[in-house]
Amino acid sequence: MTQYLIAGNWKMNGDPEMAKTFAGELRRRLDEAGGKAGAPEPELLICPPFPLLPDLAAALRGSGVSLGAQDCHFAASGAHTGDVSPQLLAALGCSYVILGHSERRADHGESDELVKAKATAARESGLTPIVCVGESEGERDAGRAIEVVLGQIGRSCPQGEGNLVVAYEPVWAIGTGRTPSMQDIAEMHAALRRETGAGVRLLYGGSMKPANAAEILAIDDVNGGLIGGASLKADDFWAIAEAVG
Ligand code: PEP
Repeated sequence: MTQYLIAGNWKMNGDPEMAKTFAGELRRRLDEAGGKAGAPEPELLICPPFPLLPDLAAALRGSGVSLGAQDCHFAASGAHTGDVSPQLLAALGCSYVILGHSERRADHGESDELVKAKATAARESGLTPIVCVGESEGERDAGRAIEVVLGQIGRSCPQGEGNLVVAYEPVWAIGTGRTPSMQDIAEMHAALRRETGAGVRLLYGGSMKPANAAEILAIDDVNGGLIGGASLKADDFWAIAEAVG
């Protein structure tokens, strides 16, 4: 059975104090739940801003919580001011990296081809890329959501066998409090599954919170969530993890 992945994308939020508090609260929850029936069984992943990675790696060591970044370069080193290599992320304790988030596509003009190059390099460095795809509201209204998302998948994902997570994040649902209907999520994930095959974990992202997590996570071929705003509070993040049925 596929293990669910509950991934927190902190975006450009948090500071050392918040990270310490969050890690402490998460560890306490994990300790309390340890061995109890009904304790969350999903893999938990935190993706903070780059500078918080060492602090979180230390604070979460031995907890079983995974660590990831929100971007990487495709090169191992060199003249790329402001960028971070996948090799360095792996050395800092990351096992995942989010790539092609719609905010990076919008803020930094990242293309599908660039996302694919980064995802390929991430994989070669031992990281699992979490490739984000999603349609705009106009594309959904025009009935093109599945076509658009499958196109992004084809152009953004690395080729061949290897670790891969795909996050379906409708752009209009991110940070807005709005979500697609459960039927729309189910149709998209069924299409993604046909495209990616069985070995790829498919996450839903976009205004997931404790109140809607159980319903979304129960949909076929939803193997977890990529959570933005609700991942900044340990209580909410934990409640979402507990919603995995
Ligand atoms: C995200 O940024 O990946 C995201 C899903 O954000 P939110 O949960 O805040 O909509």
